[in-house]
Amino acid sequence: MTFDDQEYLQRDPLIDRILITSDEIQRRVAELGREISKEYPHSVPIVVSILKGGVMFHADLQRRLSVLHEIDFLSVSSYHGRTESSGVVRIVKDLKENITDRDVILVEDIVDTGRTLSYLLEILRARRPRSLKVVALLNKVDARVVDVPVDWVGFDIPNEFVIGYGLDWQEKYRNLPFVGVLKG
Ligand code: 5GP
Repeated sequence: MTFDDQEYLQRDPLIDRILITSDEIQRRVAELGREISKEYPHSVPIVVSILKGGVMFHADLQRRLSVLHEIDFLSVSSYHGRTESSGVVRIVKDLKENITDRDVILVEDIVDTGRTLSYLLEILRARRPRSLKVVALLNKVDARVVDVPVDWVGFDIPNEFVIGYGLDWQEKYRNLPFVGVLKG
């Protein structure tokens, strides 16, 4: 059985439209998995998921990595309210593993202003990993305030508030298999 994006769309009148379908996401995640795997032929990277938004992408991406790897989780509070990034970020849950001298891949749901990622990279770099790379499913290029390196991007998207595939609106809609836009 496969997900039916249309069914989700019809069930909830608050969802305006689908921006990226579940099929498009899955195809791109498979490509990213292949590209990322090529980078780590001789090491066992730690693939770090950022709770909660990055979890769905992380889970799918892991299954597309053909190299041995470990996983870990990090939680930051990065924005409050409906649509805006406040720039205030704090670690709510830290990594369990020591990343010193390890290859680290940070899995982000979305890079908007870039503030959250910039802060996280600073913290993680201080722990002296051997390498630190970033994969983001979504990239709001026009919203960038801080210049941050993103090594792999799933999709460049317009500057709109999106939900689904891990991303929430007031903690709801993370379960949607597609990336969509709410009404109004
Ligand atoms: P940044 O610090 O890059 O501005 O924001 C990154 C964080 O803000 C993301 O990890 C995500 O939690 C939240 N965010 C930014 N844009 C969106 C969006 O369009 N939809 C949702 N649901 N969250 C967003």
